[in-house]
Amino acid sequence: FPRINVLNVPFINTTQTAFLTAVESRIDHRQNTFIVTANPEIIMYARNDLSYQHILANADYITPDGIGILKGAAILGTPMTERITGYDTMLALLEWGNQQHKTVYLVGAKPEVIADVKKVVADRYPNLKVAGTHDGYFTDFSPIAQDIAAKQPDMVFLAVGFPKQEQLIAAHRHQNDGLWMGVGGSFDVLSG
Ligand code: UDP
Repeated sequence: FPRINVLNVPFINTTQTAFLTAVESRIDHRQNTFIVTANPEIIMYARNDLSYQHILANADYITPDGIGILKGAAILGTPMTERITGYDTMLALLEWGNQQHKTVYLVGAKPEVIADVKKVVADRYPNLKVAGTHDGYFTDFSPIAQDIAAKQPDMVFLAVGFPKQEQLIAAHRHQNDGLWMGVGGSFDVLSG
């Protein structure tokens, strides 16, 4: 995809539909894929954190999550096509994963929230296999990463907020050649 820089962050400039098609194809081919859905908060944070900048530079796709990014790009004279949010992308991929009988691993949010998310997913996406779940209040991610490595899910959604979710993904993505995506507060929304 063409890229548009906003404060040195290279956002992809495409439609949600074209983006999903590309991501789905990568998942089908078991290509290791790291998506960051970046809002203004994230790009402001990256300005002062070199290691987070490095993490962003190694992501496969950075999408404009939030109208603030689109407004910024327009002001800079490089308008973007549309917003691609983490929540919408996650929902679309869960839907696709259900149709394609894919496997998913869900980590993040409070224990009661992830328990609800598990029920919602089982109910709404019966053909999607949930390989594992964990709440987001662990002290050591290693055992969870090992479980992900053992199960090799098609998609891993990590909802522990930024910058932690991206830091964990950057450190562990080599353990599973699937999709890795930080989804912030999305589990709270999905759980209702
Ligand atoms: N969270 C978590 N572990 C933590 C801190 C936060 O699982 O150690 C969860 C929290 O319960 C919430 C999400 O991460 O579900 C953070 O949502 P927020 O909207 O703050 O994240 P952002 O969208 O700003 O990245």
